[in-house]
Amino acid sequence: MVVMKFGGSCLVGGEEFLNAAELVKNYHDKEIIVVVSAVYKVTDKLIDTGHLALEKKTEKVEKNLKEIDEKHREIIRYIAEDTDEMKRLLGEKDSHIEELRQIYKGVSLINELTKRSLDVITSFGERLCAVLFSAALRKIGLESFPVDARIFMTTDDTFGSAMVDLETSKEKFNEKVFKDMNGSIPVVTGFIGSTEDGITTTIGRNGTDYTASIIGYSIKCDEILIWKDVDGVMTANPKLYPGAKVISNISYQEASEISYFGGEIIHPKTMLPAVLAEIPIRIKNTFNPSYPGTVISQKYDENCSSLIVCSIDGLSLITVEGAGLQATPSLVVKVLDAVTKENINIYMISMASSEYNISFLVKSKDTQRALISLRQDLEVLRLVEHSINKIVVDENVAIIACVGAKLKGRIGVAGKIFSTLGSNGVNIIAIAQGSSEHNISIVVNSKNMKKAVTCIHEELDGKI
Ligand code: ASP
Ligand code: MG
Repeated sequence: MVVMKFGGSCLVGGEEFLNAAELVKNYHDKEIIVVVSAVYKVTDKLIDTGHLALEKKTEKVEKNLKEIDEKHREIIRYIAEDTDEMKRLLGEKDSHIEELRQIYKGVSLINELTKRSLDVITSFGERLCAVLFSAALRKIGLESFPVDARIFMTTDDTFGSAMVDLETSKEKFNEKVFKDMNGSIPVVTGFIGSTEDGITTTIGRNGTDYTASIIGYSIKCDEILIWKDVDGVMTANPKLYPGAKVISNISYQEASEISYFGGEIIHPKTMLPAVLAEIPIRIKNTFNPSYPGTVISQKYDENCSSLIVCSIDGLSLITVEGAGLQATPSLVVKVLDAVTKENINIYMISMASSEYNISFLVKSKDTQRALISLRQDLEVLRLVEHSINKIVVDENVAIIACVGAKLKGRIGVAGKIFSTLGSNGVNIIAIAQGSSEHNISIVVNSKNMKKAVTCIHEELDGKI
C-alpha cells in the first residue's frame, strides 16, 4: 500500500495533471491512496481575494474569481474523459465558484474576515483539485473517486493551524474511505479537516504532506510518497551552492530539523504519524521519476548520511537587554509570550548564561508586529521601564543551520565551522546548538549567507 501526495508545483495545468496521473498508474500493482493540495498558487489567490473582499474591492474580487475559474476550466477541458464528464465537472466547478462568490460577498458585507472564514475559503482549493485529479485518473483508465477529507480529518477549532485528533481521524478514515475502496483509487483533499461539530478547518499552510502521513498512519501503508519538483533532500540549497548533492537516506530526526529550518521540503508535522507507525517517507521528483529520491526513515546509513547546510533568509534578530532578565527569570517567558501570542513564529532563541540579554529571530515581515506586542504588553512594559535597558533590532539576518546525526558527539565540528567562517570574513552574530546535537545554528548577516553556506559545505562535507 502506498499513500502518494502531489503538491501544487506538480499540479499546474492539464498537462501536469495527466503527467501525475501516469505516475500513479506506474504503481497500479499496489493499493494506492492519492492526496492532493490545491492547484498551483490557488491557495494564495483565495486568501488574497478574501482580503480584497474585506477592503470591498469588488472588481478585483471578481477578477480573481474569474482567474481561479479559468484555471480550473482549462484543466477540465484537458482531462475530461468525455463530454458528459466534462459537463458534470464544469457544473461542479461552477457551483463551487458561485459558493465562493457568495462567501466573499458575505465578507464584504459583514466587514470581517475571520480565521474561521479564511479556512472555509481556502478549503475550496483542495476540494476543486481532488475532483479534477480523480477525473484525470479516470481519463487514463484508472478507477477513482474524490474524497473530501472533512469526512474523516477531525481537528480542534484552532482555525488556520488546527490540531488533528489522530486516533479519531484514523478510525473514521478506515470506516468511511478505506473499507469501501474496492480497487478504486481515492483522491483525498489535503490540508483541510473539520471539527466534531462539522466546522471546516485547515491544518496549516503546506499541510497536505501531513494529511498524507495521517492517512499512511491510519492504514499502516508501506510507504508515503511525496511527489515534488526536486530530486529529493539536498545537502544545501543548490541556488546558493551549486555543488549541493541529493541525499539518499536520512533519519526522521534529521528530516524534522531540516523541515523546520529549510521549510520547503516537507511539512514539519509530517514526521510524527510516520514515526509512530514506522513508515518510510520517500521524496521523488515528478519530472524525473526514475530517480530514487530521498528516503526518510528510522534507520539511516551512517556512511551515507551527510551534513546538511540549511539556510533561511529574510529574518530579524530582536535582542532584549537588561539586568532585569537576571533578576526576574519569568521575564524571559513573558518576552517570548508577547511574541508568540501574536502567532509569530520564533526561529531561534539565544541567551548567554549571564542572562543579561535574550535574542530571538522572527521573519522580517513580523518584526513590527513583534515589537508592537513587546511594547504594548503591559507587564513587559512595566518591566522595561525598570529593568530592561533596550530592545535592539538587527534586520536582514539569516540562519545557517548545520544539521546531521553525524554531528552528535563529534568534537571539533563547531570549531571548524567557526574557523572557516572567520577565515572567510563572515561575522557570527549569534549561535545556538540544541542538546540533541543534531543541529548547530549560526546567525549571520544576509549578505554573507551564500558565502557562509559555501565555506561550511566545503569545509565539512565528507570530512566528518
Ligand atoms: N494548498 C495549501 C497551501 O498552499 C496546502 C498545501 O499546499 O499543502 O498551503
Ligand atoms: Mg503548497
